[in-house]
Amino acid sequence: MNFELSESELEFRDEVRAWLSANKPGDDRGIDIAQKEFIDSRRAWQKKMYEAGYVGITWPKEYGGRGAGFMEQLIFNDEMILAKAPEPINVLGLGMGGPVIIAHGTEAQKQRYLQPILSAEEIWCQGFSEPNAGSDLSGLQTRAEDRGDHYVVNGQKVWTTLAHVAKWCMLVTRERKEANPRDGLTYLLVDMESPGVEVRPLVQITGDAEFNEIFFKDVKVPKTQILGEAGKGWDVAITTLLHERGTLGMALATRAQITAADLAQQARRLGRGSDPLVRQKIARFTIEARALQLTGYRAVSAMKRNGIPGPEGSILKLMWSELNQQMTEAGVDVAGPAGQVGDGDGWKYAFLRSRANTIEAGTSEVLRNILAERVLGLPRSR
Ligand SMILES: Cc1cc2nc3c(=O)[nH]c(=O)nc-3n(C[C@H](O)[C@H](O)[C@H](O)COP(=O)(O)OP(=O)(O)OC[C@H]3O[C@@H](n4cnc5c(N)ncnc54)[C@H](O)[C@@H]3O)c2cc1C
Repeated sequence: MNFELSESELEFRDEVRAWLSANKPGDDRGIDIAQKEFIDSRRAWQKKMYEAGYVGITWPKEYGGRGAGFMEQLIFNDEMILAKAPEPINVLGLGMGGPVIIAHGTEAQKQRYLQPILSAEEIWCQGFSEPNAGSDLSGLQTRAEDRGDHYVVNGQKVWTTLAHVAKWCMLVTRERKEANPRDGLTYLLVDMESPGVEVRPLVQITGDAEFNEIFFKDVKVPKTQILGEAGKGWDVAITTLLHERGTLGMALATRAQITAADLAQQARRLGRGSDPLVRQKIARFTIEARALQLTGYRAVSAMKRNGIPGPEGSILKLMWSELNQQMTEAGVDVAGPAGQVGDGDGWKYAFLRSRANTIEAGTSEVLRNILAERVLGLPRSR
């Protein structure tokens, strides 16, 4: 396998690199991510990237995308991370909402929703998890009652990232109770400004209120807002999750290599580089981060073949989340007493935020089950 970029890919990389260095906004870390100031600046940044043709790189041109390949997307992601450029605001719309509409939407839905996702005019959130349905999504209880030309939705979602600023929600609801709980689900695109939708923030260990609870009380949703077929929402939800892990996975390997390099630099700066335990740890992290990158290339090859991310996305997400927790813990450790005060020698936020990595987008236990069953062909756990 050849890991060198082709001439046209090198040209694209150089173009992106030059554009980012000329246009990248200043560092906005440290601003509470629930604040309007943060949201507005990230929205403006995404709009600027969109106007330059760097958002929706793999999306079809007729819906506002660039119509390029996954390799270009990977190159762009890497350059963003190397430049330490801020992420676009609409991460869930770009990573999941758009791709799932492209896969399951009607032509009218594609025309209506895709372009405002790219330009960040409309932010999306993902209403899957509930107080009694997380890893086992099929246990969800939010009801969609059929009233002819519309549904009436009642229920509660939780841990909904960006719900406080979202215009649209990918909402999985139960329309009918069936013997198999995966049957009878209906996937709706819900306007978060509809009467009866209430969003309450939840504060995380970092102090940020990145996610929320959403309460739905007699919310009217027209049937034109069904994504896929009524009662067949499970398939649409699975497409969404494959994209969640795949898109996330693709961006993680470079990030891991940068964290490992930051750690090595910190060890040198603090004179801890000669400590054999510290050296061995950093060497292991560096090797694992590089292995992640090679797995990322395999994921891209699979996506090129099949059009949707395969289980490789789950490998990347699983390995990265555990590696990232170990690396941020080592960062706090290498800092010594400075790791316990102020910003923890630059590691405090990353260390605290990393605790969620092994839960969000599928817990490590659940991802191991997926890999055991779908990659290794072992018997189902239940
Ligand atoms: C930062 C963050 C952002 C999030 N954003 C969103 C969002 O935008 N939208 C959304 O819908 N959700 C979101 N979530 C929720 C996330 O998807 C769930 O937390 C996750 O799926 C786990 O579900 P749960 O919390 O209900 O835990 P549970 O499913 O109750 O799991 C509890 C424990 O049991 C283990 N477990 C469960 N089932 C099995 C099994 N079959 N085999 C072995 N072990 C098992 C789990 O690994 C875990 O350790 C977010 C979570 C976090 C932390």
